[in-house]
Amino acid sequence: MKLEGIVINSIDYKETSKIVNLYTNNGKISVIAKGALNPKKGFLGFITTGNIVSFVCTDSNAKSLMEYSLIHNSFSINDNIELIKAFGVIIDIIKEIPDDINHEKCYEFIKNVLLNLGKINTRKLMSVFLIKLLYVFGIAPNLKTCVRCNSNNIVSISISSGGALCDKCSTPDIEYLNIWKEYYYDKKDFNLYSDTNYDKLIKDIRDYYSYHLGINLRLN
Ligand SMILES: [Zn+2]
Repeated sequence: MKLEGIVINSIDYKETSKIVNLYTNNGKISVIAKGALNPKKGFLGFITTGNIVSFVCTDSNAKSLMEYSLIHNSFSINDNIELIKAFGVIIDIIKEIPDDINHEKCYEFIKNVLLNLGKINTRKLMSVFLIKLLYVFGIAPNLKTCVRCNSNNIVSISISSGGALCDKCSTPDIEYLNIWKEYYYDKKDFNLYSDTNYDKLIKDIRDYYSYHLGINLRLN
């Protein structure tokens, strides 16, 4: 079968082979790359974490790589510590993606994030990525009604409560609530998202993941 995927990691298998774990538009799969450690095979691109590859593998239970081509090389981020950190967070998050979701949409989105890494403001890209992914993890914030009293007159967001609060339940911070709404709902070019105070936003995103999912993001 022919698939496209992002390389999550690879582990040694027998003497010269690797088992490569990938995230594809069908979900996570493992593929054996026979002889991957032999440079003559030319499999390096297939076993490098973060690379995006299209490939053909056998249909059997133990899928075996037949051929592949490189769509995107993650190598270019290697000289920038901020990008390496962001990259690590993206890969960590992919590992946590549940099996029972719409992988096609999720895959396309994450692929797009990887393709934009290093091209736009990293903290903006990571904020859009992490806020949108809350949906995939089933812990999306309620940004329509007050999570305490159900009022429609929402004016702020509470990270610990997992959503918006109304004027009676909180001190208004509409500008910041609107950032969350924009980052969560809007679908546009990553460059076009409004700028914000990323120190605050990323701290709150970290708290959100930690509080509602138990995931500690290594991001600042
Ligand atoms: Zn309320």
